[in-house]
Formats: sequence, C-alpha cells, structure tokens
Amino acid sequence: MKTLNIALKLSLLKEYLFPAGCAVCGRTLFDEHEAWFGLCVDCAGGFPLSQEPRCAVCGRPLISEAEICMNCRKKTPDEANPDYDDMTLLYPYIGRTQTLLRSYKFGKHRALARFFSEKLLSSISGINCFTEKIPCVPVPPRPGKIKTAGWDQIECIAKILEKSMPVMRCLKRLSSKTQKELGKSERLTNLQGRIICIKKPPEELIIFDDVFTTGSTMNVCAKTLKESGAKKVHGICLFYD
Ligand SMILES: [Zn+2]
Ligand SMILES: [Zn+2]
Repeated sequence: MKTLNIALKLSLLKEYLFPAGCAVCGRTLFDEHEAWFGLCVDCAGGFPLSQEPRCAVCGRPLISEAEICMNCRKKTPDEANPDYDDMTLLYPYIGRTQTLLRSYKFGKHRALARFFSEKLLSSISGINCFTEKIPCVPVPPRPGKIKTAGWDQIECIAKILEKSMPVMRCLKRLSSKTQKELGKSERLTNLQGRIICIKKPPEELIIFDDVFTTGSTMNVCAKTLKESGAKKVHGICLFYD
C-alpha cells in the first residue's frame, strides 16, 4: 500500500514537471489519482463497462435479442466459427474512446495503460466466466513496430496486468506486410503461419489486444495457440470497429 502511495505521489510530481493533461479533454491534472490514470475525474467516469448481452461470435453488444449479431449472421460457416471460444470487446472505437486510444498511442499519455489495465481486469473478473487466475497472453507486435513507435503499447499494459494476474508471452509475430494495407481475405492468409508459438501455452488462457476489426488477428492467435496445446482460448479487446 505504501509503495502505491509513493507511486501515486510520483505520478503527480511527474505530471507537475512534464504536464500531459487529461488524455480526453486536455484539462490540467491536479489530483494524484487523475495523474495516475492520465485522465481527469469527469472523463475517467465517462467509460462505464457495458453489461449488455454480447454476440456469441464476435463479442459486440447485441441490439436484438438473438444470440448472434447481424454482421456475424452474414458470415460463411468458417468465419462464424472462430478458433477462440469467446470474445469480449469493451468500447466502440468512436468519439471519446477514439481520442483515448490515439492519446495513448501517439501522445504523451502512457499513464492510460493503467486505466486500460483496470478496465480489462474488472471486465475479466466481472462479466465473463473466466477469472484473473487464467493467464493472459498479449497479441505480439508486428516486427519493426517497436522500432518505429519506440515502444510496445500492448506490452506496457501487460506489465501492469502482470501485477494482478499471470501473463504469458507465448506468441511471436514474424515479419509480413502491414495488415492495414490488405483486404479482409488477404489479411487472413497473410497472418496464417506468421504468428507462432514460442513456448507451450497454458490449457486455458485469455488473449488480449487493443483493437478488434475483422477479428482475423485474434483468430490466428487462437488457432496457433490451440495447435500448440491450448484447450480453451478466451479473447478480450479494448476497442472494436
Ligand atoms: Zn478530462
Ligand atoms: Zn457478431
């Protein structure tokens, strides 16, 4: 507890010396908890976790009562049967949540990693059937990405998660064409065989990533993990398109 208090005070001191402000509204942060999460108290309260029922295939919130969302109903049988067993997506990637992720990735708001970890942890222990005792496996970064960006945004969150739950780094991504430049089907073929298991995965695990778009990255990760011995693969992503 004492260490946490010191860490909180240090984060406020850092904010005072090198002000980043609130990652969403830019307001000056005067409170140690605000500095700790990189958000003012008003903005921090604006991201409640949804308790709505989710699509059984992609994890997006359901508008109708049916178990599968409209988007997934249009999928081919192969696409509708992903290799992960369930998926939890926290926030739609629009408006304020978009600002949140952009501030984290491209700004000086790395303190947000603590905010994201809190949300992931409460979601893991709250809305699903898995617990913090099941190891978390981060989706590996593209080769060269750390060199370009200067840091690994997912690893930064993983380090914080590791204080509350086991984290296993068993995946590695081999070099390939940037995912963003490819179409949907190309993405899948491009990824197949390029994400490899570098150590034996646990039987049950939770893979996590920042953004879920087509789900192909998560699916290939789950497939690789299962081929290497994992029996149950849950997925969790902070944002979805
Ligand atoms: Zn704010
Ligand atoms: Zn769906």
